[in-house]
Amino acid sequence: MNADRHTDIAIIGGGPVGATLALALSGSGRRVTVLEARGSIEASPDPRALALSQASRIILERLGVWRKLPAPTPISRIHISQQGGFGRALLNAEEENVEALGYVVDYSALDLALHATLIEHPEIELHMGIRVTDLASNQGFASLACASADDSWHLTAAVAAVADGGKSITQLPGIRRSSQDYQQTAVLAHVKTELPQQGIAYERFTRNGPIALLPSGDGYALVWTLPPAEAARVLALPETAFLRELHDAFGDRQGRFLAASARNSFPLSLKTVDSVTSGRIVLLGNAAQTLHPAAGQGFNLGLRDAWALAQALGKDGRRDDTAALQRYRSERRLDSFGGAHFTDGLVRLFSRPGRLLGHARDLGLLAFEQSPAAKHWITRKLSFGAQG
Ligand SMILES: Cc1cc2nc3c(=O)[nH]c(=O)nc-3n(C[C@H](O)[C@H](O)[C@H](O)COP(=O)(O)OP(=O)(O)OC[C@H]3O[C@@H](n4cnc5c(N)ncnc54)[C@H](O)[C@@H]3O)c2cc1C
Repeated sequence: MNADRHTDIAIIGGGPVGATLALALSGSGRRVTVLEARGSIEASPDPRALALSQASRIILERLGVWRKLPAPTPISRIHISQQGGFGRALLNAEEENVEALGYVVDYSALDLALHATLIEHPEIELHMGIRVTDLASNQGFASLACASADDSWHLTAAVAAVADGGKSITQLPGIRRSSQDYQQTAVLAHVKTELPQQGIAYERFTRNGPIALLPSGDGYALVWTLPPAEAARVLALPETAFLRELHDAFGDRQGRFLAASARNSFPLSLKTVDSVTSGRIVLLGNAAQTLHPAAGQGFNLGLRDAWALAQALGKDGRRDDTAALQRYRSERRLDSFGGAHFTDGLVRLFSRPGRLLGHARDLGLLAFEQSPAAKHWITRKLSFGAQG
């Protein structure tokens, strides 16, 4: 990449949200440049499985990405329960009149499908192995300090879209960040169970944190939330002891756990910003909001961010980028706030100790189970976001 260049829209981070934004902008007539720190997609697989909503499926279909995904696993039911309690609730795709309540894909498979589609668009400039090390907004443009393994230079852009996952560019003038550490770590693995996988996603709340089993291929993608020291302990267990402890925590709904793949872990926190724009800089995806994975909302929110930003920049942006960014900021406020607070509320409600509270939660789950209207409402919000 040459020194001192200019582009219309610079996207910092070619992960799933940044790549989606680039694709959604193709055909807008704007010059788009994606800067991705990883040298190659294949060399850095990510162990996460992602539950995608109906809205995400629609976006990925429109962008020509969905058909490249190797067999997404449909979720036909979602089973919600709490350890040691009698209450439980079931969401059912058939009752909701939808083909599926969501679809499970591997992060890495999605990453590959997005990049395979990016390559079909030669008008999108994709640069791998380039890290943005600094970012500023000046009068009328953004300025990016870029570095590769053997070079460094500056790039200017009419708009800099930060899709770096919220981990690298943490200080931005005019944007205040808030962060709450959940003191929880997610332990991930692919597990096989005695009873066959039948499209049921389980969300089981325990005193340590939620356990999610997402149907994935011929087994389940496990997200087991634990306090950090407990997580470190179970990560180090031999496989049979790990499977036994998982069974003790999860219960018998899928019979015994038979096998687990290599395990990984992620520390969990809630990160939000007071504004997703500052001058010519705009944040999206995890850079704008990082959520607890309990409700499987983070990436789905990020995709809706990318779609909304592309619409704003493609339409208003051709005349006035500042107006486009303002439109994006006000359009995304409710969905981002709703997603973050719904997920955070759920995690906090179910992690509070106390017998009385546990009993009240059981009654709440039973009441939810008896209310088709409440189930329909929540299914719609999970599928399409707070704006429904
Ligand atoms: C355990 C777990 C389970 C989850 N499950 C779900 C789920 O079921 N459903 C769901 O919707 N969400 C889920 N999420 C959330 C989801 O993973 C994130 O919301 C999503 O990955 C965010 O995508 P992103 O592109 O914003 O960020 P990332 O995935 O973090 O990608 C950021 C990209 O930017 C690049 N980058 C970083 N810094 C720079 C830089 N300075 N310069 C250039 N490039 C840079 C990185 O290399 C990376 O490619 C889960 C999260 C966790 C931790």
